[in-house]
Order: sequence, then structure tokens, then C-alpha cells
Amino acid sequence: MDLLEYQGKQLFARHGLEVSPGKAVTTVEDAVAAANEVGYPVVVKAQVLIGGRGKAGGVKLAAGENEAREHAQKILGMDIKGHTVRTVWIEHASDIATEYYASVLLDRSAKQPMVMFSVEGGVEIEQVAEQSPEKLVRHHVDALQGLSREEAIGIAREGGADEDVVEGVADALVALYEVWLQEDATLAEINPLIVTPPSPDHGTTPSGGGQGGSGRRVKALDAKVSLDGNALYRHPENQGLSDSENEDPIERKAKEQGVQYVALDGDIGILGNGAGLVMSTLDVVAQAGGAPANFLDAGGGSDAGKIKQAVELILANDKVKAVLFNIFGGITRCDEVAKGLIAAFGDIKPSGAGGIPFVVRLDGTNDVQGRELLQEAALPDVHTARTMNEAAEKVVELAA
Ligand code: GDP
Ligand code: MN
Repeated sequence: MDLLEYQGKQLFARHGLEVSPGKAVTTVEDAVAAANEVGYPVVVKAQVLIGGRGKAGGVKLAAGENEAREHAQKILGMDIKGHTVRTVWIEHASDIATEYYASVLLDRSAKQPMVMFSVEGGVEIEQVAEQSPEKLVRHHVDALQGLSREEAIGIAREGGADEDVVEGVADALVALYEVWLQEDATLAEINPLIVTPPSPDHGTTPSGGGQGGSGRRVKALDAKVSLDGNALYRHPENQGLSDSENEDPIERKAKEQGVQYVALDGDIGILGNGAGLVMSTLDVVAQAGGAPANFLDAGGGSDAGKIKQAVELILANDKVKAVLFNIFGGITRCDEVAKGLIAAFGDIKPSGAGGIPFVVRLDGTNDVQGRELLQEAALPDVHTARTMNEAAEKVVELAA
């Protein structure tokens, strides 16, 4: 589950990382009010789940109210690489001396958490990794020990952080590691992690300042956080963070009903029992030259109510031209599934004149009886198939 920048920053703040105060708003008037409240200059920032907002014109500095209004007007409703901006984050603008990069993620091949740090921030990190890999420190962390402050100081020095902010960077890395670990994140990234210029009252005091002697501070200017959806039950306070406004409406409905449904781009609706079977069904349909419209795992359910629910979800997508039911009978018996299907069809009549054709493949426990039941019921435009390939070819033909 990916978080918007401002939501990531809320988590950062909870763990002691320095961020700028700000407000998330959805209208131009609220944006202006928020800008007046946080104090000028402000930054108006598009909140979408995609990087490179700055380059796309979705991050703008405003010196006063008029500029803030202009930018909010332009950015709200803007399309950034297919993502419509519905929310802007207004924060008090920071002065920037230099831009660093920091992230924490799981290095699957090493089976260890990894902290990355670079003084080449503000640009895409893939670019740094490719063009000057020596400028990107990759440091593996012992998951049982965690990241110590000494270790973090080592990372900051190795990456070439300015000496006066080595401790500030180290504190930021430790806090970022804590965000990653304690919030069950799969990624916690700051780009840029900025160093501010010395504040006037600290410039000459060697031991003053909250973070370092020079008064230069280390701060998260951006936030990219992904949380592990499977661990969300441990974080009730984070459950409201999903970007439900921008979620596919059918996916949202499926989630509410507890159905495993993922929207895809094609026009062939898919239902199967068991995630593995559904995934291989997607492959077989693609091999037959078709394009699946969704992934739907009906699980072990065979009752009419559950099948009706699934059919309704699939048909809520008006791109769907034909549907493939792929059932492998085990504990769930094919004759039970057929009965459920017949009852559901009696209720919603999805096929037939002007409707959507269905191909039903039944295999496994009581498949013969299941196919007999379907044949007797003679549902309009419902075709039976015995093998997966046969079913896939038939459904692709019907969708054409
Ligand atoms: P991204 O383009 O989606 O990664 O959005 P960022 O939040 O990283 O912002 C892009 C760039 O805008 C940053 O790298 C900064 O150079 C600039 N920027 C963002 N916030 C501020 C700010 O408060 N002050 C200044 N001077 N520049 C900012
Ligand atoms: Mn950024």
C-alpha cells in the first residue's frame, strides 16, 4: 500500500524525523487559507502516487497569496502521468543548501534490511546507481541488532555527508529505519533529504543548533512510503491511509465484500477457485490471444450468493465482452458450483439476448454431474468446456 507524500511525512514526524509543517487540501480556497496559515513562502505540492511531480509541474513555490492561488488552481485537477491530482499539500518552503538521498528497504537477495544513502539527492536514484554507483552507499543491517547510531554515522561519512551534518544525517537514518521497521513498511525513502543553510543566529556558534554545531539542519523534503498491506492489522491507525479516492471502484467494492479481485486492462472476465488456478487462467487466456479484464479468486465458495456476487463484480466492468469460469473441483464439488451458478443466473440473467456469453470449465470432483446440470438448465449463451485450453480458446472467440 503506497502512501501519498503527506501521509508518509506524518509517519516520519511520528518517529522524530524533521519535516515542514503543512496542510493537505482539496480546493483552491482551502489551499489559499492553508498557505496563509503556514506562512510564506510556501510550496504547493500535487499528492499523487507517482514520482517526478516536480518535473511535471506539480511542485511549485509561492511567495504570496496570489501565487499560491494560481499554483493551486493549476495543480488541482492536473494529470500527472495518468494520475489526477485531487489533493495538494501546502507546506512552509525550506531553504536548501544541498540535497541528499536516503532509503530503507528489504534486500531480498541478501535477506537483510538495507539502508541506502547518497549525497546526490533530488535526482532519480536509479540514475545515480547507474552513472555513479560509487556515490550510493548500500549498507546491510543486522535485523536482530537494528541500526545503531554509530553504524549510521559510518554510513553518513562513507557517503560523503558534510562533516557538520554527519550526526544530523545519522539521526535521520536511524529514524527512517525505525519508520520502516515499526510501521511495517516495505519501502521508506526520502528524496531529497535536505541540508538547510545555517540559520543566522547559529552561523557562528559552534555548539548551538538542534541537530549540528553549524545550525544547518537535516530535513525530509519528500516522502515515499509503502506499507505492507498484510501487516496493516497491526496498525489500526494506518488503516485510513489508503488512497481510496483513486482506487478502482470495483476493486474497492470487492475489498468491502472480502473478494480477491484485481482490475486488469482486457475484455475477458475471469473467475476461478484458488489464486494459483486464476493466475494460470490469465496466462492461458493470454496465450490463446485474449486479454483478461480482471483477476477474481472465488476461493472455496460454491453457494449461489457468492457466485452471484462474483458475477456482479465481473460485469460491473463494462469493458467485459465474455466471461470464463474456471473451476477445479476438490473439496468444492463441481456439481455444487453448477447449482450455485444456475441459481445465480436465474437471479441476475447476465447472459442471453444482448448479454454476455459465459464459458464454464468444470474439472475434478463431480465434474461430469456438474456439466450435466448445466446442460439440463440450458442457460442461454453459457458454454461448457472440459479443459482449460478449450475454454480459453472458446472465450477468446466469443469476445472477438
Ligand atoms: P518529486 O519531484 O515528485 O520527487 O517531488 P519533491 O517533493 O522531491 O520536489 C521536487 C523538487 O522540488 C525538490 O527536489 C526540490 O528541489 C524542490 N522543492 C520541493 N520543496 C521545496 C522547498 O520547500 N523549497 C525549495 N527551495 N525547493 C523545494
Ligand atoms: Mn522527490
